[in-house]
Amino acid sequence: MRSIECDIVVVGAGPAGSLAARIAAENGASTILLEEHPKVGYPIYCAEGLSLGGLKDAGVDPKPPVVCQEITKARVFAPNRDFVELTSTDWKGYTLNREVFDSLLAEMAVEAGADLLTSTKATDLLKEDGTAVGVKAVSGEETLEISAKVVIGADGHASIIRRKAGLGEWFPDVVTCAQYRLGGLELEEPGVNEFYLGRAVSPGGYAWVFPKSAEVANVGLGVRKIHTESPIKYLKRFVANDPRFKDAEIQLVNGGICPVSGVLEKVVSDGLMLTGDSAGQLIPATGAGIHSGLESGKIAGEVAAKAVEEGNVSAERLSVYEERFDSYWGERIRDSRKVVEMLDKFSDENLNILAKVMTNEDVLNLANGTSVARTLTRIVARSPKGIINLMSAYLKQ
Ligand SMILES: Cc1cc2nc3c(=O)[nH]c(=O)nc-3n(C[C@H](O)[C@H](O)[C@H](O)COP(=O)(O)OP(=O)(O)OC[C@H]3O[C@@H](n4cnc5c(N)ncnc54)[C@H](O)[C@@H]3O)c2cc1C
Repeated sequence: MRSIECDIVVVGAGPAGSLAARIAAENGASTILLEEHPKVGYPIYCAEGLSLGGLKDAGVDPKPPVVCQEITKARVFAPNRDFVELTSTDWKGYTLNREVFDSLLAEMAVEAGADLLTSTKATDLLKEDGTAVGVKAVSGEETLEISAKVVIGADGHASIIRRKAGLGEWFPDVVTCAQYRLGGLELEEPGVNEFYLGRAVSPGGYAWVFPKSAEVANVGLGVRKIHTESPIKYLKRFVANDPRFKDAEIQLVNGGICPVSGVLEKVVSDGLMLTGDSAGQLIPATGAGIHSGLESGKIAGEVAAKAVEEGNVSAERLSVYEERFDSYWGERIRDSRKVVEMLDKFSDENLNILAKVMTNEDVLNLANGTSVARTLTRIVARSPKGIINLMSAYLKQ
């Protein structure tokens, strides 16, 4: 067994972990970033959509090969295939090459001074008197004991760090996804992301078409609770029903889990912080977690480094991270979760009616969890009574 010492050990080199490690190192902490896979960014479990704002916040230029397709519009389709088109002069997005994006973020952490250990899997949390003091990890045949003043769990939805810290075995609600990367397409509008709602298409979630170019697209869907078949069966049906995909070549099959119940009640304990998916920090209505994970990682890295410098890594000191994340992202995530719960009550027929009364801006606000109360009040003013009744419980909250 080999022993290593550092100020901060970050487990998981996804967007949240790499940002946490970069910022911690920039703030003077000796930082180790662990990644269980041999190459950062693989395997890919993502539809690869990110806003320009997300890229900017990561300090990454929107240039190939990090991005492969500019997105300027989105279409949200109701079950009857009526759609609301979303465009905005101040919004732009991209389809990423996620493996390039993730490996660039890890490189930036290394440039800032963090040590990246790939093919190194954290297997246990080390504790002394209830305080986290490091992790045990395996790297090939070797066992490592990494002592650290702060452990940051950025190890995704199945986080071993979260479970060993007693902060949560699993999430009350998750979306289970299936996705194909389809090639050989001739998409007329590769700059448009498509979202399809409805119980027949994707119960409790939605289906998406995110183009990577005119020829290649990520086509997938996620289901929740009320589904009666596996997500791959819904996906096969969705693809078979779209003539654009008739002669498509399946280049990649993947999927994955998005925790959508909201941020865990506690994401810090003595000597320990959780960031990104491990903490449930995704936007529930869209399942988007890259931008919120990047922002959470940044705050976690900064607070951890300052706490180490001050010699106080108590849960109370580290909870400054929780408060800072909560003041913007936490509120968005809570509001977006309420929208998910409200939409659970809508039949496909109700969704068709809702699509008729919603504007471009309403859809964006509800999906992203921004100005939700104000948006719902506006929608109610235009809605028939049946729809208002479905929304009323939420309006009272
Ligand atoms: C099908 C699908 C499509 C999605 N599409 C989008 C999208 O288009 N846009 C968007 O914003 N979000 C999307 N998401 C969500 C997004 O992928 C996640 O929210 C985001 O990756 C979270 O980042 P993270 O750093 O917290 O965790 P992850 O990206 O999951 O990174 C965790 C890292 O930790 C490593 N790890 C895990 N356990 C250990 C261990 N014990 N030791 C060492 N390393 C470990 C993993 O290998 C991984 O590299 C999608 C999710 C799914 C499932």
